[in-house]
Amino acid sequence: MRYEDFYRRSIDEPEAFWAEQAQLIHWHTPPQQILDQLRPPFRRWFVGGTTNLCYNALDRHLPERGEQLALVAISTETGIARELTYRALHREVNVFAAVLASLGVGKGDRVVIYLPNIGEAVFAMLACARVGAIHSVVFGGFAAHNLALRIDDAQPTLLIAADAGMRGGKVIPYKPLVDAALAEAAYAPTRVLIVDRGLDPQMTRVAGRDLDYAVLRREHEHAEVPVTWLESNEPSYLLYTSGTTGKPKGIQRDVGGYAVAMAMSIRYVFDIAPGQVMFSTSDVGWAVGHSYNVYGPLIGGATSLLYEGLPTRPDAGIWWQLCERYGVRTMFSSPTGIRVLKKQDVAWLKKYDLSKLKWLFLAGEPLDEPTAHWITDGLGVPVIDNYWQTETGWPAITLMPGLELKPVKFGSPGLPAPGYKMKVINEATGLEAEPGEKGVLVFEPPLPPGCLTTVWGDDERYLSSYFSHFKELLYSSLDWAIRDENGYTTILGRTDDVINVAGHRLGTREIEESVATHPAVAEAAVIGVHDALKGQVPVVFATLKQDADVAGASGVAQAMQQRVVEQLGGVAKPSRVYVVNALPKTRSGKLLRRSLQALAEHRDPGDLSTLDDPGALDEIRKALERGP
Ligand code: ATP
Ligand code: MG
Repeated sequence: MRYEDFYRRSIDEPEAFWAEQAQLIHWHTPPQQILDQLRPPFRRWFVGGTTNLCYNALDRHLPERGEQLALVAISTETGIARELTYRALHREVNVFAAVLASLGVGKGDRVVIYLPNIGEAVFAMLACARVGAIHSVVFGGFAAHNLALRIDDAQPTLLIAADAGMRGGKVIPYKPLVDAALAEAAYAPTRVLIVDRGLDPQMTRVAGRDLDYAVLRREHEHAEVPVTWLESNEPSYLLYTSGTTGKPKGIQRDVGGYAVAMAMSIRYVFDIAPGQVMFSTSDVGWAVGHSYNVYGPLIGGATSLLYEGLPTRPDAGIWWQLCERYGVRTMFSSPTGIRVLKKQDVAWLKKYDLSKLKWLFLAGEPLDEPTAHWITDGLGVPVIDNYWQTETGWPAITLMPGLELKPVKFGSPGLPAPGYKMKVINEATGLEAEPGEKGVLVFEPPLPPGCLTTVWGDDERYLSSYFSHFKELLYSSLDWAIRDENGYTTILGRTDDVINVAGHRLGTREIEESVATHPAVAEAAVIGVHDALKGQVPVVFATLKQDADVAGASGVAQAMQQRVVEQLGGVAKPSRVYVVNALPKTRSGKLLRRSLQALAEHRDPGDLSTLDDPGALDEIRKALERGP
């Protein structure tokens, strides 16, 4: 089918369109009303319909694909690869659900899941869905304080954690972080369920509070737990945003709308049919992990690969080796992941048989053109940049090769996905921007199925965070964008990262992209730094490729400035360029421009709890002291 027709219908006749898509999932009782918008911007999809995410992900597939692989959980950290058929996964989830029920967890209860990227994380999520509990997965790399914040906000009955995770061959104990988080949090879950991987022999338990999953698992080995049917608009899970720009928000998802969005997008966006294989390198702790490691592929009857480990261990070919071994059709990763590989030999991309691989999707950060070309040429498959947010739950701007592949335009994630009434608004006038004119990316309500329904426990924050920026009732993405005359949209950066040089508003992305065209540059971060004369000036921090052949740092710096002037004009010229070994990022791989800017302006870098590598900030401090 043509993309244009599909998209147009989703906008012109949303109820008819989504009623059709709703046929992709199993309803225990069919919806009575497709869309209710009594209280905009709140909206309810598939009102009165009852369904269950776990049933759609597992039970429904048993008759036809019980013996097909559902989940392959690979760890290059422990060396363990677990292959579970739909039947085996269904069994594990029933056992886990029985354990939850035995601990008194039922409909509407929150369960915080603090596990590494292992099979049990998936079992736990689906088990929650089965009994109608609301899971909130907290990325395993987060420190105690992050966990405590989320515990206090979600107020879970139960906390599920592991003894430890592993990263780069090093054991990272989780349990001490759990204990510290519970000491810090005001709210106390009644029980802590521990998945003991046997990685941390020093682990201690609090008697009466801490329980061993393996012990309870044996008690419930043969249990069958009936599905709890939920009304389409009841909450299914909470997921906190990455916290790149401040205090994370508890994004609340529904049941029916999300299931339909997953069934639709796995097929038409990711081009995955039942029986095919999807490999997302995300952690289950992120939005991508929820939607395209767990719910999307499983609701779609596909095989999902879950990966614990680094992209470069045992070597930089590991992802492609897995693609060959499991016959992966669609792969999903992030620009950050690809930039890590870009520092290594391109030959790794050619070592394995990738004849089954059709698409590489990348999301999470702007995909700069040089990186996009490097990976496209190296793999020889189309690379599809796609834009979304924790809030949206699935791509908002993308190409849809499962429907019709429109031309890839480097630097742009493409066209709006079904149901997203997208506009670019000129901030000054509040009017829709012309093609080629920069503005804020917004969505006109109603948001399509799958997007957040509110901020957990805080409707006010939902309205003030997302719907209070314009006179009209519009969802602000808080990202800056530009649209061309064919509708292709480019994301220019976050609205609070925009650089204002003598009245010219520049997206961080434009300058970063320009700097990255220098062949020696691996990655660049651009920030606006206060300047008495111009208001702000762009300042660059850049890392170089491992084998970069450069004639001294000052030479490269000058060359980078030169490029920006040639490509964007004198107004965008970086006033300083710092060459560093690492850039500060969140645990989800996003550049922390906010902290860079604070350091460059001699301010406190603010809340650093989501920072991945504290060493990277020290580097920046030193570089600033040293001077460019
Ligand atoms: P917080 O909202 O707590 O500050 P966050 O915005 O980093 O955290 P996420 O929801 O994980 O949390 O990230 C979504 C953001 O990532 C988008 O708003 C956008 O800024 C960026 N992003 C995602 N995909 C793309 C893409 N394909 N191109 C450019 N930017 C992207
Ligand atoms: Mg955000």
